[in-house]
Amino acid sequence: MKMNVEKKLEILADAAKYDVSCASSGSNRKNVGKGLGNATGMGICHSYSEDGRCISLLKILLTNYCIYDCAYCVSRKSNDVQRAAFTVDEVVDLTINFYRRNYIEGLFLSSGIFKNADYTNERLIRIAKKLRTEHRFNGYIHLKIIPGASSEVMEEAGLYADRLSVNLEIPSERSLKKIAPEKDHVSVYKPMNWLTSRIDENREDRKKYRKVGSFAPGGQSTQMIIGASPERDLEILQLSSDLYTEQKLRRVYYSGYIPISQDTRLPALKTAPLKRENRLYQADWLFRFYGFEMSEIVSEKHPELDLEVDPKLAYALRNPDLFPVDINKAPYDLILRIPGVGVKTAQMIVKSRRYGKVRLEDVKKMGAAVNRAKYFMQVQGKALPMIASDPHRVRSAIIYQKGNGQMNLF
Ligand code: SF4
Repeated sequence: MKMNVEKKLEILADAAKYDVSCASSGSNRKNVGKGLGNATGMGICHSYSEDGRCISLLKILLTNYCIYDCAYCVSRKSNDVQRAAFTVDEVVDLTINFYRRNYIEGLFLSSGIFKNADYTNERLIRIAKKLRTEHRFNGYIHLKIIPGASSEVMEEAGLYADRLSVNLEIPSERSLKKIAPEKDHVSVYKPMNWLTSRIDENREDRKKYRKVGSFAPGGQSTQMIIGASPERDLEILQLSSDLYTEQKLRRVYYSGYIPISQDTRLPALKTAPLKRENRLYQADWLFRFYGFEMSEIVSEKHPELDLEVDPKLAYALRNPDLFPVDINKAPYDLILRIPGVGVKTAQMIVKSRRYGKVRLEDVKKMGAAVNRAKYFMQVQGKALPMIASDPHRVRSAIIYQKGNGQMNLF
């Protein structure tokens, strides 16, 4: 019996929710008046469902049929689930209709593998091409590149998509081989390397020649599944650091493994390790925006992130000799290391002290989480001396204080 589009949507949107690499950012293409949609503004909006997954985009698989059998994946060929596949026109129509109704700001499209990588990639690209060229769709498009993609296929994908991503999935080759034997990291790194060079080349060309079109203006990203294999936070974050510096990735996404299958090769988790996922994002943030070296966050001595406290607080507790920091004298970089002080607050402190001494009330007004920050800073000669003498007590006080500020990022 022929399956209707609603049913396909139900199946293929559900299957896509396991891929978290869908935040729409980094694209700057404007609607010049004749087209439909606009990646600017809309494209940089992030929305998350209750379980922390991004929902601002129409996020679907083209199909959940797959020739591979990755143990951690709900779409693996040996899994007894209902299968469905959209046609190219069905995805195009859904995107346009949802966009017109303001349900979505763009499209995140991934897929199980039909036949082979390029056969599948070509279908994904046909959708993006049709949206851009026939419907003049200017909304955000994130296309998943199936590992093993050829350069010809990626060249075309980059013309129509804002962002491309090739998923690493499992952080080490050894673990990948164990739970997804048909896959290898070479087929991920090859397209990733190619995209890195092509995106760089395009940026250089666009500086020189105004008429050169953009190629994947939102760059590339990847996703790692956390907790399906034994890699420690140290290995995961070291890998992320390499991906940011060597591959110039815009984002590395961490997806806590959702225990969906009974397979002896997988750990017996009851629930997805969401707290660990959250800590990895916080550590990633410290590395990208707070000037931390990965080795300051995780090391052989501290190979796992502390699940009880955020990584910035954990760093401060491990390094009491750096504190308290005098906010009226210390350099910006050191102020940024005070737990509870974010980038904006640190910038405001440095700016304000040009005009007079910054007081505790001022820091509060600037948005600092003073409940935490007070243990690590000195304001006009006053400091709580506990951090230097007793970091354990500070840790306990912060963890148990009423309305624990752990919901704030740092
Ligand atoms: S190739 Fe992708 S869709 Fe197919 S089983 Fe593996 S992870 Fe799932």
